[in-house]
Amino acid sequence: MAQTTQDDQKRHAPLLEALGIDPDSTVAGTSDGRAWSADGPERTVATPIDGSVMARIADTDAAGVERVVAGLAEAFLSWRLVPAPQRGELVRRWGERLREQKDSLGRLVSLETGKSLQEGLGEVQEMIDICDFAVGLSRQLYGRTMPSERPEHRLMEQWHPLGPVAVVTAFNFPVAVYAWNAAIALVCGDTVLWKPSEKTPLTAVAVQRGLEEVARGLGHEGVTGLVVGAADPVGRAVVDDRRIALVSATGSVRMGYQVGEAVARRMGRSLLELGGNNGIIVAPGADLDLAVRAVLFAAVGTAGQRCTSVRRLILHEDVKDGFVRSLLKAYAHVRVGDPLDPENHMGPLIDEDAVASFERAVAAAKEQGGKVLFGGRTLPGLGSCYVEPTLVEAPSADFPLAQEETFAPILYVFTYRDLDEAIGLHNGVRQGLSSAIFTSDVREMETFLSARGSDCGIANVNLGTSGAEIGGAFGGEKETGGGRESGSDAWKQYMRRQTVTVNHGTGLPLAQGIRFDV
Ligand code: NAD
Repeated sequence: MAQTTQDDQKRHAPLLEALGIDPDSTVAGTSDGRAWSADGPERTVATPIDGSVMARIADTDAAGVERVVAGLAEAFLSWRLVPAPQRGELVRRWGERLREQKDSLGRLVSLETGKSLQEGLGEVQEMIDICDFAVGLSRQLYGRTMPSERPEHRLMEQWHPLGPVAVVTAFNFPVAVYAWNAAIALVCGDTVLWKPSEKTPLTAVAVQRGLEEVARGLGHEGVTGLVVGAADPVGRAVVDDRRIALVSATGSVRMGYQVGEAVARRMGRSLLELGGNNGIIVAPGADLDLAVRAVLFAAVGTAGQRCTSVRRLILHEDVKDGFVRSLLKAYAHVRVGDPLDPENHMGPLIDEDAVASFERAVAAAKEQGGKVLFGGRTLPGLGSCYVEPTLVEAPSADFPLAQEETFAPILYVFTYRDLDEAIGLHNGVRQGLSSAIFTSDVREMETFLSARGSDCGIANVNLGTSGAEIGGAFGGEKETGGGRESGSDAWKQYMRRQTVTVNHGTGLPLAQGIRFDV
């Protein structure tokens, strides 16, 4: 190993050690065999902040995937019988552990993804919040009782654990999205397999270590498992495995088509949380100062690498010029640099591939007649993964590039005359995750929220498209995949519904009054 790599690893070692990861071993930490396995090829994990190597970690090989899935299938047989409030106790203790680890885990999230420390900490807070939610839920997995049409019959539905659930996660929310799924699935009585993004395996190892330890302490060892590696072969092996009852997958639309098809082929269940292409409409009577601040965070926060980042700004013609002027002023104040420095607003993209896709999008925007109003360049002086926040004026409503989600801080500006035109523009993309309108007019607001308004899973008024709370169900329509995770009644996807009819009489009346007398 080169000396600089060794020095880098030493620099990051205290943080990793605080989270139970041993950076000195050939793999980052040692595998537990049953809960997670690391016998495959090694990968190097570097932070996009300065390119320094944090650790080397071995992928899970095919035998390891088999061992972990078999372990979870076996553990499910007993976990499903543990009373739900006791399952909630495991999640409650996990939440406690996360509270203790918040600073170090939040920092590791920032280092591994390049997001700001505030956002890294926020992600861990989101894990804590969903644990609290799931603990309450563990006493509220309600079924309904319906009146039966037959005398002396009881009709009701109940919810049972589903089976092992696989959670495939994206790099940009490396731990929160896992917790949205795992906390709920665990109280529902499912065992949980995690296939994190190959770009962010260290945070996954840290979280898995903490959760396993808590589970072991309560005598429930083996209810969660981890496999590390790329989409192919590790992701594919998980998705194709018939023992996995539900695949909850978060990532690109491309991934969703592949996973959705593969799971459907074996009649499994999938929950897809895919890419967004989110729009904000700014109406003439909007509070423009508020709108500028909201648009700025939604476009530039997390360097535009949120599924809910705003990609399309739809401005009324009366406010357009003034709004763009204010936005340009705000963009000029955005400080790009080390995201661990609280003075900076925007850190790096995840890797050099992401920078290349930013460059391709800027070039395509120009080719298609777009006008770069701000930014558009890479910032090699800061490191290999930094780019400028970028604002592009679209040449027309049918700007082809705006159909695509480029996972970078690029915002396209459109103009509209009336609300119907704005909604048409807004809904005229294949994705349907998050949306927002800025208005002070109650009619405009209600139109946007009505059936002829936004076609997205999330619709906001006078706030940006990003930054959802865990209490609501999270997800989107159309190519975003239709799945819902996190709060509200999203838990139902992690359980199987059983309709039960009990005859407590002595006759045998048939439904619909059908007679069958012999
Ligand atoms: P990605 O699709 O490249 O990878 C996501 C995960 O899927 C990774 O773990 C990857 O290994 C796995 N994967 C990919 N193809 C697979 C296959 N065929 N079989 C099994 N596993 C497979 O996405 P990414 O670059 O990590 O993340 C960015 C994307 O995720 C963006 O499109 C973003 O909008 C989306 N995203 C969506 C949500 C949401 O809730 N809707 C949340 C976060 C991110």
